[in-house]
Amino acid sequence: MKKEHKKPKDHYRKRTHLIHGNYESRHWDFDHHLIPPMSASTTYRLGSVHRGAQGFAEFASEEAEGAGHVPIYIYDRLDEPTRSMLEENLAYAEGGDVCVTFATGMAAVSAALGVTTRAGDEIVAHHTLYGCTYSLMTTWLPRFGVETKFVDMCSESSFKGAITDRTSAVYFETPINPTLDLIDIEQIRRWVDEVQPGRNNKERPMIIVDNTFATPYCQRPLAFGADIVAHSLTKGIGGFGTDMGGAVIASRDFHNQLLMYRKDFGGVLSPKSAWPILVYGLPTLATRFVNQQKSAMRVAQFLQGHPKVSRVNYPGLETFSKYDLAKKQMFSYDGKFAPGSMLYFVLKGEQKAANEAADKFIDYIASHAYSITLAVSLGQIRTLIEEPYSMTHSALPDEVKRARGLEPGGIRLSIGLEDWHDIIEDLEAAFEQI
Ligand SMILES: *Cc1c(COP(=O)(O)O)cnc(C)c1O
Repeated sequence: MKKEHKKPKDHYRKRTHLIHGNYESRHWDFDHHLIPPMSASTTYRLGSVHRGAQGFAEFASEEAEGAGHVPIYIYDRLDEPTRSMLEENLAYAEGGDVCVTFATGMAAVSAALGVTTRAGDEIVAHHTLYGCTYSLMTTWLPRFGVETKFVDMCSESSFKGAITDRTSAVYFETPINPTLDLIDIEQIRRWVDEVQPGRNNKERPMIIVDNTFATPYCQRPLAFGADIVAHSLTKGIGGFGTDMGGAVIASRDFHNQLLMYRKDFGGVLSPKSAWPILVYGLPTLATRFVNQQKSAMRVAQFLQGHPKVSRVNYPGLETFSKYDLAKKQMFSYDGKFAPGSMLYFVLKGEQKAANEAADKFIDYIASHAYSITLAVSLGQIRTLIEEPYSMTHSALPDEVKRARGLEPGGIRLSIGLEDWHDIIEDLEAAFEQI
C-alpha cells in the first residue's frame, strides 16, 4: 500500500487558504459545515454567574489569549463568532498577528488613530488622503487635542522635519486615493527609525497604512515595516458591493486596545455583514484581482494612447512615475507584479475646460454606458467611474487639491470584472462626445 500523507495546511498556498479558510476555528466547531455559519444573536446564554464573570474577565485580556477554550461570548458588541472567523482570515491575508473589524472603513481608521494617539499627541500624515480621513483629522481629532501635520511623505526633509517628540502616529495611503501616487513604505520605516533613535519601541511613532486601494492581494505593508494596516472592507476585499465594513490588522500588542476601543465607541461590524465578506469577498479576492488587474492594464494602455488624455496614472504602466517602487512594493502572494485595479486619468485642456470635459464625459457614461457606472466606492466587480475633484475629495480646499495633483479634469476608474473590450468601447463612445 502506498504511504498516505496528509499535507499540512500551512504547506498550501495563500490563495487556497483564502477559499478554505481556517475551519479549525476556536470560535466555532464548523468542521462539519462547508460554509461557515452566519450567527445572529445579540446576547448569549451564560449558564451561571460564574461563567458570566469569567467571560467579562477574559474579554480583551491577556488571559483570554491563552485560555484554550471556546470564547465565552457575552454580547455582540464585545465579540461574536462569524466576525471573529473573518478576523482570523483577514489577519492571515495581511500577514499580521490579529485583526479587529469595524462597521465601516472610517470606523477602522478612527480606531487605528484612536489607539495610537492621546491629547497632546501629533499625527504626521501625507497631504493627500481619502476625503473623510482628512476631515476626521482636521475637524474631529483636534477636539480631542490631537493635531495633524500634513506633509509630502515623498520628501525626506519635509517628513523628518515634521516628526517631533509628540508624534505618535504616521499615517498614509499607498496607492493614494485618488491620484494613485505611491509612498515607499520601507523608506518611511527607515526615516521614522532614523529620526527617533532615542525612543524605545513602545514610544516610537506607529506607522499606519491604509491599504484599501491595493488590498492584501496586491500589497502587504506589514512586511515592509508598517505597524498597523487599516482597510475599508466595503471596497476590494468585500468586492461585491453589498456590505460596509472596516478592519485593522496589527501585532498582538494592539489587540486588546482595539477590542476595548470598539466596545466603547461601538462601531462593530454586524455579523450579517461579516458573513458575505467571509464567504464571498475574501475567497474570491485573488481571482477577482487577477482579472481586474488584467483589464485595468488594457484600459490604462488604451487611455495612454488616447489623444484627449493628458496623463494616466496606473502603477502597472512602464511610464508611471514610480514604476520601480510599484514593482518593489506591489506583488501578489505568488510574487507576481500586482499593480491593482484602480486608474486615474486627466483630460487635456486648461482647468475650466478640462473640468467641463470631465463632467460631460462622465455624464455621457452615466446615461449611455452599460459596462461603466457613475458611482463612488471602488474595488467592486462592476466598473465604477467618478470625479474626485468635485465628489469624493470635495472636502479638501481647492488650492490644496490643485497643489496635490488633484485636477479638476481628473477621473477615477475602478475596473471590474466585465469584458475589457466593453469597458474600452464605452469609454471610446464618451470620448467622441468631448
Ligand atoms: C472608502 C475608503 C475609506 C473609508 O471606508 P468606508 O467603508 O467607506 O467607511 C477609507 N480609506 C480609503 C482609501 C477608502 O477608499
